[in-house]
Amino acid sequence: KDIAIAIDGPAAAGKSTVAKNVADDLHYIYIDTGAMYRSLTYEVIKQGVSTSKEEEVLQVLLNTEIMLHNENNQQVVTVNNENITEEIRKEEVTNAVSEIASFPSVRIEMVKRQQKLALMRGVVMDGRDIGTHVIPDAEVKVFLIASVEERAQRRHKENKEKGFPSDLEAIKRDIALRDKMDSERQTSPLKKAEDAIEIDTTSMTINDVTKQILNLVQA
Ligand code: C5P
Repeated sequence: KDIAIAIDGPAAAGKSTVAKNVADDLHYIYIDTGAMYRSLTYEVIKQGVSTSKEEEVLQVLLNTEIMLHNENNQQVVTVNNENITEEIRKEEVTNAVSEIASFPSVRIEMVKRQQKLALMRGVVMDGRDIGTHVIPDAEVKVFLIASVEERAQRRHKENKEKGFPSDLEAIKRDIALRDKMDSERQTSPLKKAEDAIEIDTTSMTINDVTKQILNLVQA
């Protein structure tokens, strides 16, 4: 029977890589909800709308179609048919996304879209509030954590491999700030669901984490 797997955790804990591997192994659909908040943030900045005005940000969202699909095993993200896969990872977007994700009306609309996607079982969804709010009845819930130092090191290495400019101290600051904003916001803050299994990935490989989650699915 196909199920829903919810993977939550702080920034850069390896959620998307692991979620994608688990989805590939099970032939499930992978949905990256962070990419949805990032896409909205990109569109808000592009339209010159202030990232601190909730009502205007919501209007942008209501006029924005965000699509996630798979091309040659890579996640492709489009907004209103524009491919923005690379753009949403840029610093400008990363720095503004947590403010936009803190607006209650924005979250209501995003969660509605995510729940519609989750109706298809055979889904792995990652984010901050998947096990607590988006799919509270997910059959498997995982909360991934790792030290800030380890998470920053991984992101730094990944950037260098991709040939992106990278500053380790700046990454550490970004991760710590986003974790703080994501955990302290009023609406569905980053939090481990009571029935989630916590996995500390600090000294684990991606492969080990993937295997551990697949074992939970089989259990
Ligand atoms: O997962 P990623 O780091 O790409 O998410 C970017 C940001 O989107 C997070 O820092 C958080 O502010 C927001 N987010 C959220 N709820 C989710 C997924 C992401 O608030 N379910």
